Formats: sequence, C-alpha cells, structure tokens
Amino acid sequence: NKKYDYLIVGAGLFGSVFAHEATKQGKKCLVIDKRNHAGGNIHCENIEGINVHKYGAHIFHTNDKGLWDYVNQFVEFNRYTNSPVAIHEDKLYNLPFNMNTFYQLWGVKTPQEAMDKIEEQVKESGITDPQNLEEQAISLVGKDIYYKLIKGYTEKQWGRKATELPAFIIKRLPVRFTYDNNYFNDKYQGIPIGGYNKLTEGLLEGIEVKLGVDFFASKQEYESLCDTVVFTGKIDEYYDFRFGELEYRSLHFEHQTLDIENYQGNAVVNYTEAHIPYTRIIEHKHFEFGKQDKTVITHEYPAEWKSGMESYYPVNDEINSLKFKQYNKLAEKEANVIFGGRLAEYKYYDMHQVIASALKHFKN
Ligand code: FAD
Repeated sequence: NKKYDYLIVGAGLFGSVFAHEATKQGKKCLVIDKRNHAGGNIHCENIEGINVHKYGAHIFHTNDKGLWDYVNQFVEFNRYTNSPVAIHEDKLYNLPFNMNTFYQLWGVKTPQEAMDKIEEQVKESGITDPQNLEEQAISLVGKDIYYKLIKGYTEKQWGRKATELPAFIIKRLPVRFTYDNNYFNDKYQGIPIGGYNKLTEGLLEGIEVKLGVDFFASKQEYESLCDTVVFTGKIDEYYDFRFGELEYRSLHFEHQTLDIENYQGNAVVNYTEAHIPYTRIIEHKHFEFGKQDKTVITHEYPAEWKSGMESYYPVNDEINSLKFKQYNKLAEKEANVIFGGRLAEYKYYDMHQVIASALKHFKN
C-alpha cells in the first residue's frame, strides 16, 4: 500500500480543487508546488494591506450558480464589477464598447444613432472579404473604434502589425447599445473578500502541501509514494520536450507602491496607443474597494516568450496544436497519471472553467 492515493503536482486552482474533492472522499493526498506559495497564478502578495495580483489581474466570473456557490463556501466574494476604461491620446473611453463609448467617440445619444454611425463606417470601408485582423475589425465596427481602441492594443499584445495578423483572431467584436460598462455578461462576478489566497487556503485546509519542490527533481521518488499522479505542470516538460517545446505568450509586470491613496480611480485602465509600451495599469486596491493610505499599481507589458519565462497564454496556432496532440496521445495512454489544468492541457482556462474541469476529472 502506497502512502498517498494522489500526488498532486501543482497547487494552482486545478490541483487545489482536485485535492479538496479527493480528501473529502477520504483519499490521502500530497500536493507539491515548485513555487514557494500555493495558488498558482491566482496567488496574491499582501503589500501595504493590499492584495496584489502578482501574476496578472484576476476577476472571477461565471454563469454557473453551482460554481459560484462552490467558491463562496470557502470565502465570500464581493460585488466587484469589472468596468475597464481605455485611454487614447489623453481621452478616456468606457469599455466594453457600449453607449457610453459611442457618446465619447461621436457625441451620439441614442442606440439608433450609434448603430447608424457604425454601419456607415463599415459600409465606407468597402471591405467584404477581410484578409487580416485589421480588415476584419474594420469590417465589424468601422474605423473609429478600430483605430482608437483596438489597433494599438492588439499590436502590442501580439507583437505584430494588425495587417500581419490573421483575421480569425477576431471572430466577433461585441458592441452593446445600452449604457452598461460591465465588462462581463455573466450572472455572477466578484473578488474573494480578503483576496484569492483565502480561496486557496480554504481548498487546501487540512491537506499536506510541500512548497518549493520541483516534481522533476525527484520524479521517481514521488511516484513511488502514490497510486496516481495528478499532473498540472507543462505536458511537454513531462515528456522531456520530445516533440519540441510548446510556445506561449508572456507578460511582464512592474509593481510599484505609491504614497498616494488613489492613483487612477479604477482597477483596470487600458492604454490603446501603440507607442505606449504597456497595455494596462492595474490598481489593485480597487478590486476590494480598499481604503489604505498607499496604493500599489502594476504596469503590464506584453513580452515575447522565451524558454524559461513564465508561460501565460498558449499559442493555439497550427504548429503548437499539432505538437500538443502528439503529447496528448502519450498522456491518454498513461494508466496512473491524470493531466489537468492550463499547462497540462495547453489551453486557456478561466478560473471557473478550470474549477469545473477539476471537479469533472475527479468524478471520472
Ligand atoms: P496554475 O495556476 O498555473 O497552477 C499550476 C501550478 O503548477 C503552478 O503553481 C506551478 O508552479 C506548478 N507546477 C508546474 N510545474 C511544476 C513542477 N514540475 N513541479 C511542481 N510544481 C509545478 N481567469 C479568470 O477567470 N478571470 C481572470 O480575470 C483571469 N485573468 C487572468 C490573467 C492572466 C494574465 C492569466 C495568465 C490568466 C488569467 N486567468 C483568469 C486564468 C487563471 O489564471 C487560470 O484559470 C488558473 O489560474 C489556472 O489554474 P491551473 O491550476 O490550471 O494553473
């Protein structure tokens, strides 16, 4: 008999939810993580009493009442509503594109006027068969929205000109003809009161966790301790990169503590001009309606991913998708290893999706 039923590699949301469910069923779990904290990318660091989202701003949102209740059993969520603003040439615009934005762009006040304006610009462009992202965007929303709010931001994010990006990246550009700045359409959204670490702590309560431990440094030893491995690290690393490395897009964060109470009045401000090197400034206290004397802001820069860097977004192009398929074939044949989470499945998952996936994997 092995010491543990499950060895869980990775204390992120996937690993933590899986460990919680397994423990509830009387299974013995050991969770390890190579970082010196649990939580994976939702981990926050407390600076000046403010929960700083160290790996990027995280806003929980879902339409699924079951998932909302699931997370709220560990920590109560507040009523934070994501309503980012965008700055372009010193002018401010509400996001997502809605009647406030259209008023700011054109002075139009009624939905019909806004629809007419967009239609007029779409027609004027004459684009019927978009060949790249730029043409695609203009054919959907016209030139003003595109040049002021989409072009620069997108080019910074991808590190390429919009005319060199494929049209399929943008399938739809949601526009809303109501005065509604709520970024998400989901029924439920919020931030854990007291920060995301509370969620992680709740999930991992009573479970053995070892931090600062890389699975690959003592793989055989760990495998010998358990019946089943739940692996939430990188699938290509698990197989020694034998089909080549899966590529990612990365980000670079610069955190700053300022001796003022309120820097930008909003948690998220996007900078949509190409010549401004960062894409967003996050002011963390506003996620929790903080009243601290100081504030912490983060400049978010897109970064070209290189091996060894933090992997944020999978690149789901043809080459990488094919590589992943090869790895996944091997993974499917493993009898005692479960692969789950954003790195093992090489998939962009929102938090609610990764929780749903972990619950489903455990049931199976
Ligand atoms: P991770 O959190 O990455 O956890 C994997 C863990 O495994 C890590 O802690 C890692 O250290 C560990 N690990 C890896 N390899 C090893 C190894 N060899 N040995 C030991 N440990 C290992 N979702 C939302 O719903 N709303 C948002 O607003 C949102 N914003 C986001 C912003 C950014 C910039 C990014 C990148 C993601 C965002 N997400 C958001 C998605 C969210 O971060 C993920 O859904 C979630 O964190 C994924 O959890 P995970 O457990 O799959 O992966």
